[in-house]
Amino acid sequence: MSSVTIPPPACMLRPLEVPLRYLFGPGPSNVPPRILAAGSRPIIGHLHPEMYEIMNDIKKGIQYAFQTENNMTIAMSGSGHAAMECAVFNTVEPGESVLIAINGIWGERVAEIAERMGANVHRMVKTPGRYFTNTEIEQAIKKHKPVLLFLAHGESSAGLCHPVDGIGDICRKHDCLFLVDTVASLGAAPIFMDKQNIDILYSGSQKALNAPPGTAPISFNDRACHKMFNRKTKPVSYLFDMTHLSNYWGCDGKPARVYHHTGPVSGFFALRESLAILAERVKGYFPTSSVTFLNKKSFSSLDLRLPSVTTIAIPEGYDWREMLTYIMKHHCIEMTGGLGPSIGMVMRIGLMGYNCEKTNADMALHALADALKNCKKSKA
Ligand code: PMP
Repeated sequence: MSSVTIPPPACMLRPLEVPLRYLFGPGPSNVPPRILAAGSRPIIGHLHPEMYEIMNDIKKGIQYAFQTENNMTIAMSGSGHAAMECAVFNTVEPGESVLIAINGIWGERVAEIAERMGANVHRMVKTPGRYFTNTEIEQAIKKHKPVLLFLAHGESSAGLCHPVDGIGDICRKHDCLFLVDTVASLGAAPIFMDKQNIDILYSGSQKALNAPPGTAPISFNDRACHKMFNRKTKPVSYLFDMTHLSNYWGCDGKPARVYHHTGPVSGFFALRESLAILAERVKGYFPTSSVTFLNKKSFSSLDLRLPSVTTIAIPEGYDWREMLTYIMKHHCIEMTGGLGPSIGMVMRIGLMGYNCEKTNADMALHALADALKNCKKSKA
């Protein structure tokens, strides 16, 4: 075979074009030049000693961001979903009961992930924007006796920051692991993994951490490690098996790290830089202040509003898709609609980490006001 029969595609003979956008949606957020520069450093081998050093730094950076001393702290090669699957696949065995708090899309997703691996899934459901009281949670745990409880700290589809205090203690009392999703909240709302007795915590790179999408911090405490390393069955995923990942990240106490998969080297450089920026911030580690959109009707209760993603009720009589298209076309700003159960209920505006500046909030408000003026009222 010497000649190709499929010609080179014309698009491949044109240079890559990427527009400049203000990413004021629920993620990814704009990546600051310093993090972009870190990600563009020359590649080194994923098993070079210098890479191990960088991974050790990332581990320390995540321990700081999560406020944990857990040794079993790594970054997944993959997006937030990789961490979701890693958490569930490793700590739950087929047939075991899990309890999922659902008040937006993320609980639904984790319920589906757990169902796919054969867990016995129990759902606690509230409408998006509502939260679960500790009493409700304890009652459900008593009833279903789960090995794992899932809760989204930052419910980005509803714009709610769920209270966490006391839930870890309830889980301990009933011998249940407490799994918390902070993909949308880490770096924007306080979380204290050790103090709050959270057994498994994960996040994502592309929101308030401002790194490119594709890596996801995750940490397991001793209770979680005990459960996941004393299983009867192997986890359904080879790539996400913590027996291998703990070795790749030098967390298993073995003298040598052996090849498991090729980690996203540039993604890890960028993640390290974003965690370094977080560590350099002197006053507290959750710098994203709430930029409130007070003149718009808020969807979640203001007390529990997620600082990183603001959900506003769709202005009455307007077509939200038309408004978002207008804002993108005339202002180069990405905002989004709802997700899962909040579709058609809200518009979502995210100002995360580097993007969380008053000038950006003013720009977002100006774009919204302009859209209200120029998009026709289609339903009223
Ligand atoms: N959990 C939450 C709360 C999220 O907001 C997201 C991303 N929108 C995810 C999980 C999934 O992350 P990813 O898209 O990086 O897989």
